[in-house]
Amino acid sequence: MFIGHYALAFAGKKFDRLPSLAIMFIAVQLLDLLWPIFVLLGIETFEVEVGNTAMTPLNFISYPYSHSLFAAIIWAVLFSTVYFLFTKNKKGSVLLGLLVCSHWVLDFLTHAPDLQLSPFSSTRVGLGLWNFPVVEIIVEVGLFVTGVYLYFKTVSPKRKIAFWTLIIFFLGMYFMNIYGPPPPSMNAVAWSANAMWLFVLWAWWIEKKQT
Ligand SMILES: [Zn+2]
Repeated sequence: MFIGHYALAFAGKKFDRLPSLAIMFIAVQLLDLLWPIFVLLGIETFEVEVGNTAMTPLNFISYPYSHSLFAAIIWAVLFSTVYFLFTKNKKGSVLLGLLVCSHWVLDFLTHAPDLQLSPFSSTRVGLGLWNFPVVEIIVEVGLFVTGVYLYFKTVSPKRKIAFWTLIIFFLGMYFMNIYGPPPPSMNAVAWSANAMWLFVLWAWWIEKKQT
């Protein structure tokens, strides 16, 4: 799951407009923002294996600290606690915690059974939608379009171009990941995954007050 995660950040703005879209982007992708760091530190590992599932050439060998259910809950609690300490916004912090957990739920839908329940458990789960491309594309693009629909009216006129450029960029990357050539190596994937921080900056720019 990639753009489907961001759909929930867009939709989240409907329920509580207090956390900024940039913070929402960090929440929904927190596990995927931690993952390349853990990979580069040698704590987690995966390999490029063409055909691992029909839609992704990545074989997630071990990623219990970023992507087990237990770890997701811990990260969610930490993230919402830090947000609460800074803002005293109870509703916003609960929403952010749920958004962090939503990443695991959506990954559970798409990944092959490679998600551990906890770092101490060898049970691995995942419904494997990535092996059913048509269904996966309908579900993920459907989620994304719904999220964008819920959010787009709140974008200020001066940021409309920045917003729609981001949406087109997301869709382009999503389809390139599916139909483009496989990445050359694990390190290439891990380094480029850090570029997801750019989306956080982009979201901040979209909502930045104009003076
Ligand atoms: Zn993930």
